[in-house]
Amino acid sequence: MVEMLKPGGTIGILGGGQLGRMLAVAASRLGLNTHIFEPGSNPPAGQVADAVTTAGYDDLAALGAFANAVDVITYEFENIPTAALDHLETLRPIHPNRKSLATSQDRIVEKAFLQNLGLNVAAFAQIDTLEDLQSALQTIGTPCILKTRRFGYDGKGQIRIDDIAEATTAFNALNGAPAVLEGFVNFEREVSVIAARNQNGEVACYDPGENVHQSGILHTTTVPANLTLAQQTDAVILAGRILNALDYVGVMGVELFVTASGLIVNEIAPRVHNSGHWTQNGCLIDQFEQHIRAVAGWPLGDGQRHSNVVMTNLIGDDAYSQDANIGLHLYGKDIAKPGRKMGHENRISPISD
Ligand code: AMP
Repeated sequence: MVEMLKPGGTIGILGGGQLGRMLAVAASRLGLNTHIFEPGSNPPAGQVADAVTTAGYDDLAALGAFANAVDVITYEFENIPTAALDHLETLRPIHPNRKSLATSQDRIVEKAFLQNLGLNVAAFAQIDTLEDLQSALQTIGTPCILKTRRFGYDGKGQIRIDDIAEATTAFNALNGAPAVLEGFVNFEREVSVIAARNQNGEVACYDPGENVHQSGILHTTTVPANLTLAQQTDAVILAGRILNALDYVGVMGVELFVTASGLIVNEIAPRVHNSGHWTQNGCLIDQFEQHIRAVAGWPLGDGQRHSNVVMTNLIGDDAYSQDANIGLHLYGKDIAKPGRKMGHENRISPISD
């Protein structure tokens, strides 16, 4: 039997960005406290959490004090240093588990894991040297995308190669970082499934959302996605298989390319996900509450959608809508830098439309 964290219990969250902030709000609605661990000052999550530790991930004493002050630990980003996790996991349970984190942190490990499950991924090759790249270009062909294996987000650490003559420039641009070359997927659309699994193995998936990116950053998510019923079923079932295989606890974002020959998994994110923000106004139980329920050992909520939603990210100094019927979510960030996610809007409409 899984022990449920009772109201009054405390969830520690590694990372104090907007995802941590929205997790803290969801936890507080359930009577749970949150404690944020974040190296930067004045993090968005700190404004709404019960406690904040401002320290680096190499500060073992601060990590230890943080762990001792909480009942369970989760995180809002996947690039947490291994040594910090080694220390924390001796003190408190961490959800999602290390296997999930290690799998999603490295694009090659991730693709190998997905292939082992029998799922489709883009053609790929490990690139450590310029010679590796030159020979992989022969087999994978162009166009293709060279990506760092680790630390990529919002299209950063990625270079598209259209001609094999660009190999040296592309290789040098990554400054020797271990990389992967991916064949370019001619997708019809990009969708993602936000899926949750709790400590009893119960799984709940939200309806797939259709994602449009601008300059490598998510711009809109539209639900329902333009998918056949068979594609929707495929997407949800494959997400469930990924969660089970990882013995996953929490919410995961599974990004998919839709192609004429089926679904291709682009990547998995072991956390609440920008493309799941629509659930805040489209479902009774949103992705943030669902994640808190899972890590707290609670039963999952129903992921049923009650409305159609278009979620639009507010980036940099994008103006936000004054419409009275828009779900507006602002993250409390003081400086609107270009490319910085400042908030998002959810425009809802009845499902029958
Ligand atoms: P990623 O960081 O891997 O999620 O990539 C960011 C975006 O780049 C994706 O959402 C796609 O729009 C595009 N992209 C990434 N990999 C590929 C690929 N192999 N083929 C085509 N487009 C891709």
